[in-house]
Order: sequence, then C-alpha cells, then structure tokens
Amino acid sequence: MKVVVVVGGVGGARFLLGVKAALGLPPTGAPDSGSEHEVTALVNTGDDVWMHGLRICPDLDTCMYTLGGGVDPERGWGHADETWSVKAELEAYNADPTWFSLGDKDIATHLVRSRMIRAGYPLSAVTEALCNRWQPGVRLLPMSDDRVETHVVIDDPEDATKRKAIHFQEWWVRHRAEPQAHSIVPVGAEEAAPAPGTLEAIAEADAVLFAPSNPVVSIGSVLAVPGVREALRKTEAGVVGVSPIIGGKVLRGMGDACLSAIGVETSAEAVGTYYGSRQTSDEGLLDGWLVHSGERVDVPGVAVRAVPIMMSDVDTTAQMARDALDLAGVRVD
Ligand code: GDP
Ligand code: CA
Repeated sequence: MKVVVVVGGVGGARFLLGVKAALGLPPTGAPDSGSEHEVTALVNTGDDVWMHGLRICPDLDTCMYTLGGGVDPERGWGHADETWSVKAELEAYNADPTWFSLGDKDIATHLVRSRMIRAGYPLSAVTEALCNRWQPGVRLLPMSDDRVETHVVIDDPEDATKRKAIHFQEWWVRHRAEPQAHSIVPVGAEEAAPAPGTLEAIAEADAVLFAPSNPVVSIGSVLAVPGVREALRKTEAGVVGVSPIIGGKVLRGMGDACLSAIGVETSAEAVGTYYGSRQTSDEGLLDGWLVHSGERVDVPGVAVRAVPIMMSDVDTTAQMARDALDLAGVRVD
C-alpha cells in the first residue's frame, strides 16, 4: 500500500507515528526490508529560515527526529538530551536573533544541511542524506526545493498607520502570535515547484491523508505550491483529512490565530469546509473528514466520521490512522 501524508511539524510527526503503526511498521526507525507498505510525507517548509548563517527546517527536522526515535519527548521538537552551550555563547555576543532556540546537537544538523545547500544540493537531496542517519522509515519530501517562506502581515509597531510583514518564526516564536495577523502569505510559493517525486507520489497513492496539522501555515503552505492541488484533485486515491480542532479548540498551541487571519472560524466544521469537497466543488480537496467522537459536523460533499482523534499515545493514534485510511477506502488489519 502507498500512503501519502501531508504534514507540518509536531502534529504531523505524531500522526505519522500512528500511520506507520497502523500499517504494521515500527513507529520509529526503518521497517524490515520487504515491507509492502510505503509512506511518503509531504512536509511543510514554509517555516524554514536562515539564522546565524544556518538553514533551519523546523518541520522537516521534527518529523525526522520523531520518526527516527531521537526527538525530545517533552518539547515534541529538537533532540532528546539537548544542551544549549552555543545558544548561551550567541547571547553573550548579543547575536541576533536571540529569541530562537538552537540546541547544540540540533546545530550539527543545520551545519550539515547548510553546507550541502551552499554546495548546490537541493533540499530534497539534503533531507535524504540527513535521513540516512535517522532512518525515519518514511520518505520525507520537502514540499519544494525552492525557497518558500511564510510571512505574516501585522500592524507596524513603530507607525500605527502602516503594516509590515515579518517572518512566520518571528511572529510565532518571538511574539507568541500575539500581534493580530492581517494576512499570512507563503512568499515564493507562486514560483515554486513541488519537490521531485511529489506529484508522482500523489498520483500513485492508494490513500492521501492530511495530518491534523495547522491548516494555514502547515497544510496550507504545501497546498500553495503550484501543481499540488491539481494532483490531489486528480488522484484516484481517496483524500481524507483529520481535524486539528477538538471541541472548537486548537490542541496544544496558537493555531487559532492563523485561522482568524484567513477568516476561518476555529471549528472542525469550518476547517473541513475550508478544505472543501473534491466531489461537489471545483476547488475542494477532501473525500472524507475525521472529527472527534461526539462532534456533529456537516461538510457538504464530504463523508464525515467521528472517532477519537486525540493523539495521546501511539496505539490511539494508530487507530485514528486506521479510521482515516478506512474512510479513504483502504483497509488495513
Ligand atoms: P507544528 O508545525 O509543530 O506547529 O505542528 P503541526 O502544524 O504539524 O500541528 C499543529 C496542530 O496539531 C495544532 O494546530 C493542533 O491543533 C494539532 N494537534 C496537536 N495535538 C493533536 C491531537 O492530539 N489531536 C488532533 N486531532 N490534533 C492535534
Ligand atoms: Ca511548523
């Protein structure tokens, strides 16, 4: 079975653990050779940024460390047993930006990546090289080899009559998503191309799943790469999304600030409607939409199913992935 999963960082990585387990693959690490299942993750790179001369790809790394068994379990991102000596030294130099935490071990990943990028390797090849060490057991494809960076338009704090655009990381990490976002723009997306293999993976998939990742700055960025939407609309695979919203609340985080920026209410129904129906609308993407048990949600033209979608542990997440696959028309036992 070939499964494609569209993902962001922490929510996406946790969901991928469940997808692997649902297919009988070990959640972390590589499958035994000869497994007939293949998982391809299309990973958001709109969060990516240059800092201190290093290329940082937060969502790719979160997926790689989580699936490789090396993520910090408390934070959900970065290395387990991380140390912070370089960060303290950078602060002593007052080297901007001091608000972004880079762990010592994490920096090694960024050094290897930056060196390869500067030598001319595309991000997809760099990711493959890094994954040789981590063995995530799924193919991690950056959404594009081209530079796409999400920017957020806020009021200019220095001039109330003006607005300014800042990098998503500055808004999210430095300002905790507090300044109201007037709009969120994946800068560079229009000229970007999907990474090699992306469109083929969608076309050949037996099922395509949207992880319960941020609909705007994770899934939305991947969908902004030209060609991806069309491929999703054309594939013979069922396309099923999992709601990141339970009981009208975004889980663990500030994702509602992104939804209000695009005028979408924080509810499973509104997000499902925002993705839209592949059958009954010209632009829609979903055949199925998984929401939390007990919720009554209606998305026109989309099969909605309510099951537990809290990713509390790998077994629960695996059951949720099985439900998503089932809704997409494929059975795994
Ligand atoms: P990020 O890139 O690290 O911000 O992570 P993602 O975009 O992949 O995922 C963030 C989203 O995951 C948030 O908007 C949450 O609503 C969602 N999320 C986190 N935990 C859970 C969970 O247990 N169940 C569901 N359904 N969604 C979750
Ligand atoms: Ca992210």
